[in-house]
Amino acid sequence: MAFSITEPAREILVDASYDVVVVGGGIAGVSAALAAAREGVSVVLIEKMFGLGGLATLGNVVKYLPLCDGRGNQVMGGLAEELLRLSESDIHQTDVVAGFVPVPECWNEGGDLEERKSKRLFSSFNPASFQLYMEQLLTDSGITLMYDTRLCQVVRNVDLITHVIVENKSGRIALEAKSVIDASGDADICHLAGCETETFTGNVLAAWHYLVHNGRLKLKPFSKRYDKEHGRGGKSEGPYFDGVDHKQLTEQVLQSRRMLIDNLLKLREESPEDAIYPINLPSIPDIRMTRRLKNSFSMAEEHIHTWMEDCIGLTGDWRRRGPVYPIPFRAIRAEGVANVFAAGRCISADKTVCDVTRAIQTCAVSGEASGVASAMQIKDNSFGEMRVDLLQEKLRDKGVILERSWLREKEEVSAVSMW
Ligand SMILES: Cc1cc2nc3c(=O)[nH]c(=O)nc-3n(C[C@H](O)[C@H](O)[C@H](O)COP(=O)(O)OP(=O)(O)OC[C@H]3O[C@@H](n4cnc5c(N)ncnc54)[C@H](O)[C@@H]3O)c2cc1C
Repeated sequence: MAFSITEPAREILVDASYDVVVVGGGIAGVSAALAAAREGVSVVLIEKMFGLGGLATLGNVVKYLPLCDGRGNQVMGGLAEELLRLSESDIHQTDVVAGFVPVPECWNEGGDLEERKSKRLFSSFNPASFQLYMEQLLTDSGITLMYDTRLCQVVRNVDLITHVIVENKSGRIALEAKSVIDASGDADICHLAGCETETFTGNVLAAWHYLVHNGRLKLKPFSKRYDKEHGRGGKSEGPYFDGVDHKQLTEQVLQSRRMLIDNLLKLREESPEDAIYPINLPSIPDIRMTRRLKNSFSMAEEHIHTWMEDCIGLTGDWRRRGPVYPIPFRAIRAEGVANVFAAGRCISADKTVCDVTRAIQTCAVSGEASGVASAMQIKDNSFGEMRVDLLQEKLRDKGVILERSWLREKEEVSAVSMW
């Protein structure tokens, strides 16, 4: 029987006041927090887990996909590049079995330009190291980290969010905010603020994990096939999940782990003499796409190679060589709320292109732009009327690539997969 109760109203402490509150400590949140802090504003990052990196590290999705267009041109710089370099800090040589691959030599200073056309600018990192170094970088940058802290509600005054309400070991508290960045991956802030959102319902079972096979560490990028709807054209293999319903979330994790055990038993059956056991499981559900912002403008496949005047970053396509997309400011600002920006996999992108915008390196690009935009609106008191030309100038100064010339003709797009 469905019924409801009314939660009693209560006074809660306004624990602290920050210029920028970043919700979510995935790659997008890390980039947004760093970008804002480097602009000299006070930043708090709230994260429900005890670690940074989100899916990339806690979900063991350890492939930092390419910053190049697959034709030898680097199309993403700034923090996307800084974090790529950080991700390979502890990797001294390639171990494809463990999933460790440093950035190809040709992409280092003075590297072979011809070779860059065949080898892409990416890394495959150690999630533990990457997590540690991101944490160090953020705390050294003066960012306040609040772990074990979950966003519960927002307080809105007309078109501004004034407070975010969170819950942690101390109970329920409020944080005063001048600007808020939604890097929750699930557009939690946008949803609570009443912005229009869209939910993808076709996620499959997945549990990227590590196992030890006769003393050797192995990465198991374990996943059912993607839903056709999601744009990969693969054979559909349910069950499907949306990632924003609590029952479905638990079910996705339980069923993914059952799949993992079945696989383990199969491996042992094939090699009965071998010692095979799991050593590390994803600590957050490996769910690719959940809820994202749906603005009146959404990025789409048709925008490939199209310069946009409000472009705040570019992205290549990890699946194909050639394509470059602009990321416009219109995709990261939350319509209807003047002081909220989205970052990472929940930016406004339709189903034809969200497979690109959700990739780690692209999350860093939208994160950096959100962080700088957030700081700018506070410093210039420009809520709701961003000077995008000034934002672009700042981003360029930080090494973000905003080159019209990389948005070339469609004919040059290759249908060949990179992997
Ligand atoms: C199975 C799988 C394979 C993938 N493979 C690749 C790959 O090979 N390469 C690649 O580049 N990308 C891959 N991706 C995609 C990529 O990993 C993610 O899309 C990307 O890391 C998302 O970054 P994000 O910061 O936007 O969000 P997330 O990584 O989801 O981070 C969001 C963070 O917010 C926190 N959070 C959420 N809600 C709240 C709340 N209410 N309060 C407080 N904290 C909250 C979460 O705990 C999390 O840490 C894959 C994804 C999956 C699931």
